Amino acid sequence: MFDSLSDRLGGVFDKLRGRGALKEQDVRDAMREVRIALLEADVALPVVRRFVDQVTEKAVGQSVLKSVTPGQQVVKIVNDALVEMLGGEETVGLTLDARPPVVIMMVGLQGSGKTTTTGKLARLIREKHGKKPMMASLDVNRPAAQEQLAVLGEQTGVATLPIIQGQQPVDIARRALQAAKLQAIDVLLLDTAGRLHVDQQLMDEMKAVSEISEPTETLLVVDSLTGQDAVNVAQSFSGEIDLTGVVLTRMDGDARGGAALSMRAVTGKPIKFAGTGEKIDAIEPFHPKRVAGRILG
Ligand code: GDP
Repeated sequence: MFDSLSDRLGGVFDKLRGRGALKEQDVRDAMREVRIALLEADVALPVVRRFVDQVTEKAVGQSVLKSVTPGQQVVKIVNDALVEMLGGEETVGLTLDARPPVVIMMVGLQGSGKTTTTGKLARLIREKHGKKPMMASLDVNRPAAQEQLAVLGEQTGVATLPIIQGQQPVDIARRALQAAKLQAIDVLLLDTAGRLHVDQQLMDEMKAVSEISEPTETLLVVDSLTGQDAVNVAQSFSGEIDLTGVVLTRMDGDARGGAALSMRAVTGKPIKFAGTGEKIDAIEPFHPKRVAGRILG
């Protein structure tokens, strides 16, 4: 396996221990290591370039603190820049204080973990926010998608909209809104249809649903394990619809976190949650610091 980025950066600076300021050539040598490590972590090339430029500018000429080695100092600069790029210190939660029923629209490709994440969020909304959620599946393409959500509802004790076979997504959304109002639901989660690839029909359907349901949150669910593909998907979706955030699933299997870094830079939207397993409670607020730590190794 590769040495961790922290070790490699330390290595570049070991021979310079204790010398005054960070010199341009030394920083550039170190940034070569950063560049390789980020590319290995499957971070998109333009994002890597921008990151390296920013960090170089910040590091060159900085005087080295007495208490740390130059290597440690550069690791800290890189770490802080990663955290910043991933969204800063704060985790960004859901906006739920609009007039009920607050609508959360879930979008993404088939297999990204969208339905599972809908169930996880509904549970979280009830358990952590003390609000009454309801889920509705608008996925009429994937066989058994609607039933899958109904099963999740039973497991979590969250209400789901009864299925009417043959009804189209926009009509299901209308019916869901009506039902939510009648049943004094606080938060309505709409699980929209996924496709295997981004296509115009999917986008048009999603926009039509968005228009009638006026979601407070439109969350894109992407599989972190798909790396660059996840970033391309995010780019396509954010060009078509106003996303309010991203959920990165399968972070339990993503060794490096490169998708996270690119995602934020490409969509400009916060990563709000990380899916960390198949279980219904395997979701947590996205922590930029932890992901930065993974990238640094
Ligand atoms: P959808 O087609 O986007 O609705 O995808 P599903 O919700 O059906 O998820 C597809 C598969 O991914 C299922 O087997 C889920 O259990 C699994 N899955 C979803 N989220 C996660 C996650 O965060 N970690 C892991 N390990 N598996 C996940």
